[in-house]
Amino acid sequence: MSLLQAILARVAAARRAGRRPLVLLDLDDTLLDTTPRHLRIMSEFAALRPEAAALSGVGPAAVRYRVTETARAAGLVEEGLLSELSSFWGERFFKNDYLLLDTEVPGASAFSRAVVSAGGVPVYFTGRDEAMREGTLKSLLRHGFPAPDGGGDAPRLVLKPRFEMPDLAYKAEGLEGIAAEGSIEAGFENEPAHVNLFAERFPEAAMVFVDTKHSGKPVPVKRGVPSIRDFRA
Ligand SMILES: [Mg+2]
Repeated sequence: MSLLQAILARVAAARRAGRRPLVLLDLDDTLLDTTPRHLRIMSEFAALRPEAAALSGVGPAAVRYRVTETARAAGLVEEGLLSELSSFWGERFFKNDYLLLDTEVPGASAFSRAVVSAGGVPVYFTGRDEAMREGTLKSLLRHGFPAPDGGGDAPRLVLKPRFEMPDLAYKAEGLEGIAAEGSIEAGFENEPAHVNLFAERFPEAAMVFVDTKHSGKPVPVKRGVPSIRDFRA
């Protein structure tokens, strides 16, 4: 049985045992691929600034977590230009219109639907903040993810109350609130520090590292936490 099938079986077993099985699902670079969003912003910048023309030729595989890293790898070295790019990116990356550019990480929406079919409750637990709710809902629906917040056992969307709040502190705090709503059976995260936090707090649950791209903070994924590249496994 594959890892994902085993998780679905576990969710179904928890439901049969009378629990309310919750599955934590991060959004950016876990369920949704942010690469097209990065590419669009870089090509918009390139169209404005001839010195940054190289950015329009960057392909999906060259996109890093930080736009300045991607730009450096594409040959942009001038610090003033990089800092301008960084601000340009920051003004767009978190905007609802740009969220609609994301694609799904392969297999992610089918897996989320399978969680529902198995009797589980997907909890979209994201570092996106409340101002990004509208674009997030549209994007989830566009890619066929089960719609959140319909009450009862419908999936839940948990957003960060304030943009400025550090993601790790928010995830640590949010986790406790979510745990009060049912039994956390599994979780998926692309950020090593977050998946480690989940695995430490809920050692019995099946926490999975989604190896797409992450902040590059020098944190190794905890031993024993399995890793997947997408949800086709
Ligand atoms: Mg993420």
